[in-house]
Amino acid sequence: MRQSEITALLAGADDPGLFSAADALTRQNFGTEIYIRGIVEFSNHCDKNCRYCGLRRANTKLHRYRLSVDDILHCLDLARELKLGTVVLQSGDDFTYTREDIARILTESKARSDMAVTLSLGDRPLEDFAYWREIGADRYLLKIETFDAELYANSRPGLTLADRLGRIEALRKAGYEVGSGIITDLPGMTLDILASDLMRLSELDLDMIAAGPFVPNPDTPYGAEPSGSILTALRAVAILRLLNPLANIPATSALNALRDGAREQGLTAGANVIMPSLTPEEVSGNYAIYPGKNAFRADAKSRLQATKEAIRRVGRTPSEAIGGSKRRILHG
Ligand code: SAH
Ligand code: SF4
Repeated sequence: MRQSEITALLAGADDPGLFSAADALTRQNFGTEIYIRGIVEFSNHCDKNCRYCGLRRANTKLHRYRLSVDDILHCLDLARELKLGTVVLQSGDDFTYTREDIARILTESKARSDMAVTLSLGDRPLEDFAYWREIGADRYLLKIETFDAELYANSRPGLTLADRLGRIEALRKAGYEVGSGIITDLPGMTLDILASDLMRLSELDLDMIAAGPFVPNPDTPYGAEPSGSILTALRAVAILRLLNPLANIPATSALNALRDGAREQGLTAGANVIMPSLTPEEVSGNYAIYPGKNAFRADAKSRLQATKEAIRRVGRTPSEAIGGSKRRILHG
């Protein structure tokens, strides 16, 4: 696809054609199965100051929490009890967890079962990436947010696109299944930037790819900016599917933050993964990246049940499979 065709599709040139082609391709490669990944959001401390994110260091309104290594291990045990094939560990860029803390979580988890562990800990040193991979971490998620260097620098003060790209390359070299993604309708993003972002994201040949809409958080500098369009985000997901037939693509929780039920729609627009939160109920509301994140306050088991029902509502089948990258199985 040429960039001009992608821009036209993002503007709504052919929704019925786009969504049905993306859905057909998803079914062809994944059947009706939707992979469930349990996500443990273990700390909302962050030393970065991204202008879009509620966890940013300068946000003094947020009640901060950190789970201990033992608490995190309990969450992983719960994921095993719930028979989940993958657990994702995510946090703000919180360096109080040492390389060894994360290593202990990985070692103990791997000793208990072969459940896949995905890390999403932000900009850690490249040596940490390599070490955790050796110890058994399977996947790493590091979103690029946008490939537009100026927009990137404006949105993530003090940080550069080149640095983030270098980290993604290092993760790949270390042997991870690598995931990245973008925020659609980030303030300052035009349709042309978004189209180019989708192309560049696809050129990275990733195992996991996400596109979720911008959700304004009143406690951030972008709080008064308009919400991302759900439809644009869904179109972006569908285009990503067409450009990346075998990638694992999630229906993001940001969709649901904008409209309850929009996340399920993603599952019929090219997404094949969903990530319910396993974060303990006492703290999950404070993982407030944007308003409405973890709005569904219930214990992890009920949240998982609700996710399975949502999957069935759109005619798909919840899957607890490990769901490794098909791109790798086929291409090595
Ligand atoms: N600190 C790590 C991981 C946690 S942030 C990191 O930044 O990589 C997880 C993701 O939340 C980010 O990658 C970003 O894409 C998303 N996010 C943050 N603020 C958002 C907002 N206001 N709207 C939509 N997505 C947002
Ligand atoms: Fe921190 Fe990640 Fe939020 Fe940026 S997006 S402020 S790095 S949690």
